[in-house]
Amino acid sequence: MGNFVTRARSTPTVWIGGVPVGGGHPVAVQAMTSTDTADAAATAAQVRALADAGAEIVRVTVNTEAAARAVPEIKARLRDLGVGVPLVGDFHFSGHLLLRKYPEAAEALDKYRINPGTLGKKRKDEAFAEMIGIARDLGKPVRIGGNWGSLDMEVLAELMDENARRPEPRPAEEVVLEALVESVVRSAEAALELGLPEDRIVLSAKVSRVPELIHVYRELSRRTRLPLHLGLTEAGMGDKGVVASAAALAPLLLEGIGDTIRVSLTPRPGEPRTREVEVAWAILQALGLRRRAPEVSACPGCGRTTSDRFQRLAERVEAYLQERLPEWKRRYPGVENLKVAVMGCVVNGPGESRHADVGISLPGTGEDPRVPVYLDGAHHTTLSGPDLEERFLEILEAYVARRFGG
Ligand code: SF4
Repeated sequence: MGNFVTRARSTPTVWIGGVPVGGGHPVAVQAMTSTDTADAAATAAQVRALADAGAEIVRVTVNTEAAARAVPEIKARLRDLGVGVPLVGDFHFSGHLLLRKYPEAAEALDKYRINPGTLGKKRKDEAFAEMIGIARDLGKPVRIGGNWGSLDMEVLAELMDENARRPEPRPAEEVVLEALVESVVRSAEAALELGLPEDRIVLSAKVSRVPELIHVYRELSRRTRLPLHLGLTEAGMGDKGVVASAAALAPLLLEGIGDTIRVSLTPRPGEPRTREVEVAWAILQALGLRRRAPEVSACPGCGRTTSDRFQRLAERVEAYLQERLPEWKRRYPGVENLKVAVMGCVVNGPGESRHADVGISLPGTGEDPRVPVYLDGAHHTTLSGPDLEERFLEILEAYVARRFGG
């Protein structure tokens, strides 16, 4: 945890495959596939891509018999590819029937996600008990995941009635959020009563608006010590989805709320599914909670900047880091802690560059066209001429080899 996390919750550790969630372990990054699970080859390929991008737990929908039948094959394909990422089955409506009918799928999955709001009306308690019983008997963890789009109508009706009897009823939206939390908490209590130990339960209660999500999770964390899966559901597309997810997750994570996260982005046509993993890591990295890749600080530029040269250099450095990262990670353990600064002029350039491991401060308008480079806070050399970008990248490469090469 970073130094500025104000309060770490004390939760049991839930092991999902080989990945610990809660119990003070680092916040784990999850993702979900978008392929038809029944297509085992396509799903295994996407799980692998998500895992390569940094997903530590991957969820697949198990919505049909064909999907349930495909789960063991997906697992086998991943094993053949050397991908050990834990696989979670996302169940709605018929989860109990599928888990009962396909024991190989139940065994192959590392966790079951159960949504108490989608287990039907009449026999939902039995369906829930059956899923929990299977998890208990197989030693599998579950996530009890409520969603305000599929709220448990029984709990909502009960709380709405209670609210209507108050002398001053609260707004209906507040009752809806309370019903979401209440439904998840009651389901967790029921799972414990059914014999599932508390180190096999993760909770979530997702909504799609930022202030509501923050309220719901604060409430959930106040009412339970179980680990929490955090995510803004249906965050949206592009910048909107990224900003909303970061705005929702950041305050909670800084309060120590959230043991595993997923960023639910809608990919733009052609955008890779792995984007949600990159954004999740970027959020954790920006908060100082975890690091996966080196960081580039670049100034925004202003009227003092003579050209877009520093923007192009910043972009080039980013691209260079991305390109070199797979090899650097193999050869240079700890390289994800590298900090690089690319600055546009003398105002903040030298200062910011000194705070980085490797920094460069390009000249602004009217400044001497010479470019100081800093290593570990000290002036290292001064570059000039048309090939300074290449020379800077050589310095960067040499620094990485020397500092992280053991
Ligand atoms: S470092 Fe210089 S160019 Fe960059 S924003 Fe600050 S004043 Fe502007």
